Amino acid sequence: MLDRPQSKTALDRPIPERMPREIASGVFWIGDCLAQRHKGKVYHGYNAAFLVAGDDASILVETGHPKDFPVIERHLNALFAHGVAPLKYLFVTHQETPHCGGLGRILKAFPEAILCGDVSDYHLAFPQYEHRMRWMKEGDAIDLGGRSLMAVEPVIRDLRTTWWGFDTKERVLFPGDGFAYSHYHEDGHCGLVAEEAVSLDLPDVSSTFADLALFWTKFADMNVYCDRLDHLIARLDVKTIAPTHGLPITDVKATVPKVQAGLKAAALMPETGTNEKTAAPAAP
Ligand SMILES: [Zn+2]
Ligand SMILES: [Zn+2]
Repeated sequence: MLDRPQSKTALDRPIPERMPREIASGVFWIGDCLAQRHKGKVYHGYNAAFLVAGDDASILVETGHPKDFPVIERHLNALFAHGVAPLKYLFVTHQETPHCGGLGRILKAFPEAILCGDVSDYHLAFPQYEHRMRWMKEGDAIDLGGRSLMAVEPVIRDLRTTWWGFDTKERVLFPGDGFAYSHYHEDGHCGLVAEEAVSLDLPDVSSTFADLALFWTKFADMNVYCDRLDHLIARLDVKTIAPTHGLPITDVKATVPKVQAGLKAAALMPETGTNEKTAAPAAP
């Protein structure tokens, strides 16, 4: 859909030119990375958004981190300038800043857009947009013309209000905090799909992310959750996975077990805590 030379793969392109990236027909990965320090290493994580374009309307899945709004807006406008259907819907997996932090600005910039999903509490922050919020439950679908975006079971989640999204045409799963893992900027992983980032140790970065961001995985039998994930992927016949924080997964059969190995490994380790600790000043 974007007029770029087809001979050039993402690996050949400089990092800033890799996005927006069409990861399945009419599904565009947009947004930017966030660098975080942990145990002396710099981890890059995405707070990605995805645009799903139908024949009549497009839906934005997630809004990106608040710092990413200028990038998100630039990527969206580039897509619309290339003839992608207008933005009529916004679906946010849950009420956490890296997922919904651009919500007010999206609703302001795109006055036709309707916010969909579990819309708990958003009206308290944005009472002026309450009439543009629509509840969805599992199985509810938004018609975009030739494809729809459906709310599906959120197997691995951060908040109880989470829904995952699913594109019925290209069978793309949008799992929010499921499949969350960082990548390494110095290895050139930014803007690559998981299978292209060959030097990325997926079990390792997945277990680190679970340790820092999904503390409940320490207290649950992750075998049960991973089995349920396999069941969902088989039931929906998922072809591509578009996580908010991880790199997109285009080979579900080969890559999903690596992420699951990380979740299972993290569950067996004691929690290390969320922040880099600095030594407390000595008592006088
Ligand atoms: Zn998240
Ligand atoms: Zn990066």
